[in-house]
Amino acid sequence: MGEFELIRQYFQPLASNARNDQLVLGPGDDCAIQRVPPGRDLVFSVDTLVEGVHFPPHYAPSHLGWRALAVAVSDLAAMGAEPVCFTLALSLPEADSDWLAGFAEGLSRASQAFGITLAGGDTTRGPLTITIQVHGTVKAGQALLRSGAREGDRVCVTGPLGNAGAALDYLEDPEPGARQRALLASYHSPQPQLKLGASLAGKASAAIDISDGLLADLQHILDASGVGAELDVASIPMSEELRQLQGVRALDLALTAGDDYQLCLTIAPETLAALPAPVREQLTVIGRIVPEPGLTLAGASAGYQTQGYDHFGRSD
Ligand code: ADP
Ligand code: MG
Repeated sequence: MGEFELIRQYFQPLASNARNDQLVLGPGDDCAIQRVPPGRDLVFSVDTLVEGVHFPPHYAPSHLGWRALAVAVSDLAAMGAEPVCFTLALSLPEADSDWLAGFAEGLSRASQAFGITLAGGDTTRGPLTITIQVHGTVKAGQALLRSGAREGDRVCVTGPLGNAGAALDYLEDPEPGARQRALLASYHSPQPQLKLGASLAGKASAAIDISDGLLADLQHILDASGVGAELDVASIPMSEELRQLQGVRALDLALTAGDDYQLCLTIAPETLAALPAPVREQLTVIGRIVPEPGLTLAGASAGYQTQGYDHFGRSD
C-alpha cells in the first residue's frame, strides 16, 4: 500500500467527522486553511508520542488513537480554548492494515467526541511515532495561562486523581476485574475537560492539565505565578476503585501519578462563588494560594513523603 492510498483509506474519512466553519480547507492540498473569527485568538500546541517512551510497545492501536488525540486536546482544555482542527504526523515502521484500521478507529471516535477535525498531516516510514498538532480558539485575551495565580485564590481540580497511574499495574493483566477495568479505562480513554475549561476561560486565574502528576503540574503554576500553595490532603478527590485497590498507596498516586488529564486551576474565591452551579459542582477545592513560594501539604501525617516528588516547602 502506497502512502497516498494509506491516507485515502484510513485518514481522509476523518476529515468530515466534525463540521467546523473555521476549517476552510482540509487534507489534500499543500496546506490546510483555518479562518479565525474576529475577536478570537488562535491557540495551538503540538505533542509527540514515541513507542516505548510514551506508550508501551504493542499497545492496542485503537487505544493509542484515542489517547494520542486526547492528550493533545487536553492542552486546549487547559487554555480554556475550543477545539477546531488537528494535523497528524505519523511515522510507521510498516503499513500494517490491522494496526492502521485500529488506530484510525480510535482516532476517529476521539475526534468526534472532542469535536475536532483532521485537517492534514504527514506520513513517513520510521520508528512508531505519533505527532499531533491541535488548533483551537478562545475569546481574545481570555486564555487561561499558568502565570495568573494570586494570593488567596482557591486551588481546584476537575475530577478524581490517581486512576490512570494505578492502571499501569494492570496493563498486562489478562483478566482484570471490574475495579481494575474502571482504572484501566482512565488510562486508555482519558477525557479532556474541554467543556469545563472553556467555561472557565476569563474566570480562572491559572490552569494546567495534569499530565505528570498533581504536585509536579501545580508546581508549574506556582513557578510561573511566583507564589506558593497549601493543599489540604484530605480533600484530594479519589475514586472508590483507587482507594479499595491501592489502600495506603492511593494518596501517593493521586498526588504524583500522571496520565489522568484532569485540570488543576486557581480561581479567586468570589469568582468561584459566582460560577453557575453546574460548573462549580464539577470543581473540588483542594487548597489555596499563599504568597511564599513552595508547596505544603496540610493534613498529611508528620514526615509524610511521597515516592515521586521531593519539592515540599522548598523556598527557591
Ligand atoms: P507535501 O509533500 O506537500 O507535504 P504530503 O504528500 O505530505 O504533501 O501530503 C499530501 C496531503 O495529504 C496533504 O494535504 C497532507 O495534509 C495529507 N496527509 C498526509 N499524511 C496525512 C495523514 N496522516 N493524515 C491526514 N492527512 C495527511
Ligand atoms: Mg508532507
